This record gives sequence, structure tokens and C-alpha cells, in this order.
Amino acid sequence: MATELLYFKDTYQFKGQSRVVEVIDSRNLVEDTPLNKTLKKHQHVVVLDSTLFYPQGGGQPTDVGQIVGPQGQMQVKHVVLYNDKVYHLGEIEGALNEQEQVEMHVDEQVRLRNARCHSAGHVIFSIVKKHWSDRMTERKGHHFSDGAYVEFEGLLPEEQTKESLEKLVNGVVDMDCLVLATSSMVDGKEKRVIQVDGFEPNACGGTHVQSTKELGKVTIRKIARKAAQNFTKISYVTA
Ligand SMILES: [Zn+2]
Repeated sequence: MATELLYFKDTYQFKGQSRVVEVIDSRNLVEDTPLNKTLKKHQHVVVLDSTLFYPQGGGQPTDVGQIVGPQGQMQVKHVVLYNDKVYHLGEIEGALNEQEQVEMHVDEQVRLRNARCHSAGHVIFSIVKKHWSDRMTERKGHHFSDGAYVEFEGLLPEEQTKESLEKLVNGVVDMDCLVLATSSMVDGKEKRVIQVDGFEPNACGGTHVQSTKELGKVTIRKIARKAAQNFTKISYVTA
């Protein structure tokens, strides 16, 4: 059964109720599948019927927090999405049992830090698309706060420096643009898209801040242009 993905609805919902569908002791997983290899990194694995926890992927790190039941709780240390099912990995103290109602507590600071970092990456995507779509297309984003970057096919014009790009990015922050999540047709399929208001949307399955003001200040750390590979990497940090 697919897990209902509640984190899509509201980045700022950190608490909620769910029901336990499955509890796995990873020591009992014998098959050497790619999923099992990941699950074995922690002793316990819990599947819920719906979840507020963001599973690591799409360039965004995992949510962490707690799942609290009537007889025990789990420290959620890593979350994985596989075949429409979300797996919460960690260690259970006491017991969590199938069919039990549980309370989810998502770590607020980690969620918001990740959302800020991800949205800042999309502000850079948006600016590049607006000014240089004739020569650059986005390739990927890595929105981890300890080393965030966005990559593009094509070269950012030489006259754009760290300082001038930073000014453009923080101009969008100061305009306090809404960050909208909708769905749109991308390559003939309906996909979730994130749109910084006033800019072109980008396909994305991450959690985002409500408006760019929340980013505080974005610093462009480095612009790396690789002419031979026709590729640009822009590293950044959020406040
Ligand atoms: Zn994204």
C-alpha cells in the first residue's frame, strides 16, 4: 500500500497523527536487495499509512524526529521512499506495534533549514532561466546545507561574478516572492512543480518555504565554469 505523503501539503506542519502499518527489525532482512541494504543501516524500520517525514531524495536531505506510540517511540534518523512506500529508519525504545495510532514529531529546525536551502536553489534556477535560458539549462540541485550547489549545462556569462549573481538572488529574497507548489505538464506527464512567483516553474518533489523573505541572506560561495564539459556549478549557502 502506498504511503500518503502529507509533507507535500504543508512545509510547516511538524506534528500529526498516523497509523503503524509495518514494523521491521532489519536484522531479520536476509535478502540482499538494494532497499534492504539501506534499511539495514538502522535496527528498526517503521511504515505508516501517512507521513509528515520527508524522505531523502531530489537533492534534499531526510527529515528527522520522533514517532511516539502508546508503548514506545522511535528516534527517526533517516527516511526513505521506495516504490511509493515511506520507510522510517531508526531505533525503537519500548515497542511500536502494527495498527497502533502514533504521533509524528518532525524536527522543526532541520525541516526549515532544508526548506530554506532547497528554495534558495530554486531561486538560482529561476534567475538563470529568466536571464540565460538561451545558453543554460538546469541539470541538478544538491540542497544540503553543508555544501549546497546547483548545476547547469552551459556556461554562465563571464561577466557574471559571485557578487553580481548574489545581488540578483538577494533581490528576489527582498521582493518577498511567494514560492508556489502546483502541478503542471512536464514532458507530457503531470508533475509537481515549484514556482517562485513571477518566474518559470521547475519540476520538484521537495519541501519549500512559503516566501523568499524567509531565506534571510543567500551567499554565492563559488561559480565553477568548466568550458570543456560545457557546464557551470554554482555553490551557495543560506543564512
Ligand atoms: Zn527542487
